[in-house]
Amino acid sequence: MKSAALISIGNELLSGETVDTNVSYLCRHLLLCGIPTVNIFTVPDEISSIVDAFEQATRRADVVLVTGGLGPTGDDVTREALAAFLKVELRFCEDLQEQIAGFFARRGFEMAPSNRIQAFLPAGARALQNSQGTAPGIAVDWQGRFIACMPGVPAEMKQMFSDHLNDYLKQLAGGQSVAARKLMCYGAGESTIASMLGERMERGRNPLVNSTAQAGLVTIHIVAAAAEQASAEQMVEHERAELCQILGNIIYGYDGQTMAEVVGAALADRGKTLAIAESCTGGLLGQLITDVPGSSRYFKCGWITYSNEAKSRDLDVDSGLLEQCGAVSEEVAQAMALGARKKAGADYGIAITGIAGPDGGTEAKPVGLVYIALNTINGSRCERFVFPFTRPIMRLRTALAALNMLRLEL
Ligand code: AMP
Ligand code: MG
Repeated sequence: MKSAALISIGNELLSGETVDTNVSYLCRHLLLCGIPTVNIFTVPDEISSIVDAFEQATRRADVVLVTGGLGPTGDDVTREALAAFLKVELRFCEDLQEQIAGFFARRGFEMAPSNRIQAFLPAGARALQNSQGTAPGIAVDWQGRFIACMPGVPAEMKQMFSDHLNDYLKQLAGGQSVAARKLMCYGAGESTIASMLGERMERGRNPLVNSTAQAGLVTIHIVAAAAEQASAEQMVEHERAELCQILGNIIYGYDGQTMAEVVGAALADRGKTLAIAESCTGGLLGQLITDVPGSSRYFKCGWITYSNEAKSRDLDVDSGLLEQCGAVSEEVAQAMALGARKKAGADYGIAITGIAGPDGGTEAKPVGLVYIALNTINGSRCERFVFPFTRPIMRLRTALAALNMLRLEL
């Protein structure tokens, strides 16, 4: 199987000024071409560092894709570095200069003299036309390796990749096709999922199964390679069905779906409505729900009842109950959920009350403690969680836990 290495060039990447989004785009697209990335190098705008990266990258991979440093200014040295690595000279290309001048002319400008440098190519290399900017890309075959340099500007790089490299790399991969699917999971950590899946997550397997985790959500990635696209897709589908058998309702959705989308679709399908009452999440649950287009079909309303007074006045929570049990208690969460459902005339009421921190915790009620209640016409239930994380993560985990309670109920 062919492999790829990426080189990202630019001082701004190493100072933290710019987040390297080019590599994530390229890794994903290379994988779909059937060429996994095995190394990523990030180097400054400096000839010796770039030559070093070329040497290492070409030792480790068959395909080397480079972004950045093709502009017309003094700090753009990728062109020179490639020539130095190849040990060839840079040659002026008349027709390339005409293309660059044409790009300016179409916009009603005259080409600046400094852009002339972009019409130079290392001997033996060819230009990749840039329909979105002035900097042409450069492609070259070298000792059985394929090297392509593209501009750093993400929009220009993406267009150049899809215009000139995508099909070419698919062919280079030997006609191998790749299919991929993501399973979105909630309710079990990565290690639990790994032990449930056992040898299915072994390296070198086809389909390859691996996982990533973020804020309580685990994504399982399935990637299958086969000679034909249809077989690769069949393999992924077969694996998906088996993983669903093993993981059951831990899987809440597919391919980047959010929990709010899944819950929203389930409510819409059943013609049911929802109202919510939030305290410590301060509206975050409402935001996640209404981030979904069309949520007005099932979302009736929400209250942010931060004070005890608001909980009593807006949700009819008994003030004696608040005094006796405290605002962060199962009893108050239940009363808030009932109040929200009744006041809104909804089918489901969800309520959240907890301590987001960093202050305000006690031994009995630590920071991160939260009660989430779900009220329906048939009864209610409440769950206690402790999310001892930073305030934003505690709030996000709480909102997701609330959505998950409703998902399992539906
Ligand atoms: P360059 O082609 O090196 O002149 O890059 C032009 C601009 O593209 C830079 O100033 C960055 O803002 C952006 N850029 C360069 N490389 C990357 C990268 N790897 N990921 C995201 N943006 C980038
Ligand atoms: Mg640059």
